[in-house]
Parts: sequence; structure tokens; C-alpha cells
Amino acid sequence: MINDFNYLKPGTLKEAFAMYAEHDDCKVICGGQSLLIVMRQGMIAPEYLLDIKRIKELDYIKFDKKEGLKIGATTTHRAIEKSDVIKKNYPVLVSMENKLASIQVRNWGTIGGNLAHADPAGDPAPVLIALKANIKVGGAAGERTMPLEDFFVDYFETALNKGELVLEVQVPVPEAKTGAAYQKFNLLESDMGVVAAAASVTLDGNGKCKDARIVLGNAGATPRRVKRAEELLVGKTLKESIFAEAGKIASEDCEPVADIHASEEHRRHLLGVLTKRMLKKAWEQAKA
Ligand SMILES: Cc1cc2nc3c(=O)[nH]c(=O)nc-3n(C[C@H](O)[C@H](O)[C@H](O)COP(=O)(O)OP(=O)(O)OC[C@H]3O[C@@H](n4cnc5c(N)ncnc54)[C@H](O)[C@@H]3O)c2cc1C
Repeated sequence: MINDFNYLKPGTLKEAFAMYAEHDDCKVICGGQSLLIVMRQGMIAPEYLLDIKRIKELDYIKFDKKEGLKIGATTTHRAIEKSDVIKKNYPVLVSMENKLASIQVRNWGTIGGNLAHADPAGDPAPVLIALKANIKVGGAAGERTMPLEDFFVDYFETALNKGELVLEVQVPVPEAKTGAAYQKFNLLESDMGVVAAAASVTLDGNGKCKDARIVLGNAGATPRRVKRAEELLVGKTLKESIFAEAGKIASEDCEPVADIHASEEHRRHLLGVLTKRMLKKAWEQAKA
């Protein structure tokens, strides 16, 4: 059962900022795909719900060859999945969205809600961090932008201050000779992954690895970069044995927890395998 609440429906971003600042026990609702579940479970019972779903100012996908991609917070997963400009320039985002939940959930759930919810098993965060994304947040006191990897603080906790909303996700234009890949391991189709790995690889003119990112999902409290493995790759001519070594490091440098779906040991094994496979896939794209 959901407790009674007062419903606030701002028409503009300015109104939303003002209402959010004015009401103390207030929770933002956008698609409600995650919030309503925790409300129904009685885990939270806010006095006010601030519904930002219809704020048009936050519903956009923009791309510029210099500035890269900008996605407004209330953009749905389905809009990202169907975007031609994202398909062309960031295909890994489309394939990730394609496996996120069901079409019904993707039609209503939003990118801002997904990131603000900060579920360690959320799909978009590892991919976006591998693509070096930033996040813009703001409220009545102003706006600020930070690397997305700094936004996640703990299980279901973010760097959002009181009165702040997620406003926009920004993804730079990938360098030439860059490939990126993502895969989750899930027991049920259309569900969160037991674990996941995202990788991006950039090659230099000699085919050596110039830059690499490896980001694990559901491998601890927050999306997790495996910097020791990234450093192993940079400057090398990549090959299977290096991917295997990076996978081994990934299975060591993580903190997955056991639950009904998988033991900690099984999760570490999966993270190693997925890291190796995603690095190879990203590398093959970068070479092509
Ligand atoms: C059946 C099912 C399957 C799912 N499978 C997956 C999956 O495979 N992968 C995956 O990643 N997710 C999955 N999800 C989760 C869900 O799709 C996302 O978390 C969804 O994108 C949340 O967006 P929303 O707009 O519905 O957020 P809401 O539920 O409205 O809000 C979620 C949280 O974010 C806050 N919030 C929302 N928007 C903002 C904002 N702009 N600024 C600040 N705070 C904000 C809310 O206060 C709340 O705390 C699944 C959900 C369901 C119901």
C-alpha cells in the first residue's frame, strides 16, 4: 500500500526548483518505475511528490560534432534506444537500452530517474562512465557539472544535494579509433544484471592502446572502474592474453555481494569473463 502524499506538478523547471526548495519532505517522481516500487514496499513515505515528467525543458536529445551528446533528464530509455543520432555515434548506448527492462518500462522510465535512483545494477551508468560522460545537476541555488563516476556515492546514494535535480547527461564525441561494448549477465530477460561490464578502447596510429576504460556494474556499491586493468592495457599492442589478464584483475578488484541470484565467487568469475569479452569486442570495433 502507498501512503497518502501531496502531489506537486510544476510546469517549468523554474517552478520545479522553487517547489523543491519550499517543501522539506519531498521526493521527485519522473517515470515512477523505481520510486513507486520503494513507496509500495513502505521503504519511503514522502509527504510531497514533485512530478517532473512533463517538464519539456528536460526532454531532449542533442548532438553536436564538437560538444557531443546531451540528453535531458526526463528523456525516456525508449527515446534513447530509437534515436538515430545515438545509433550512429554511440551504438553501445542503443544496445544497452535495448536490453534494459521491457519496452513498457523503457517507454516510461527516464535516464535521469535511472541515474538518480543509483541502483548498483543499473545499466546506463557503467556504459556512460566508459564513454567519459558528465552529469549536470541543479536547483534554486544554481547548476554544477561533474564526471558521472563521481555522482555515485554509495548503494542508492548520489552526490545530489537537497533541492537538486538531475538535469542532463553529457557524452563527449569519442576519439577516432575508439570502440565500446557492454554486456550484463542476467537470469531473467528484461531484468537487472547479476553483474555487468562495460569497456572502451582507443587505439593510436600504430594500433597500440592509447586509452581504455573498464567499468563494472553490480560489483559493489557503485559502478566501478578497474583502473589497475586500464593501466595494464595502455601503451600495449592488445591481444587475447592481455584481455585475460585484465579480466583476472577485474575479478579481483571488485566487491560484489552474495544474494539469492549468485554467490560472491560466481559474480567475481562472471565479471572476469565479461571484462575479457567486452575488451575484445571494443578492441575489434576500434580496429575496424
Ligand atoms: C520491471 C522492471 C525492470 C527493470 N529493469 C531494469 C534494467 O534491466 N536495468 C536498469 O537499469 N533498470 C531497470 N529498471 C529500473 C528502471 O527502469 C529505472 O530505474 C528507471 O529508468 C527509473 O526512471 P524513472 O523516471 O521511472 O524514475 P522514478 O522511479 O520516477 O525515480 C527514481 C528515483 O530517482 C529520483 N529522480 C527521478 N528523476 C530525477 C531527477 N531528474 N532528478 C533527481 N532525482 C530524480 C526519484 O526521486 C527516485 O528516487 C527496471 C524497472 C522495472 C519496474
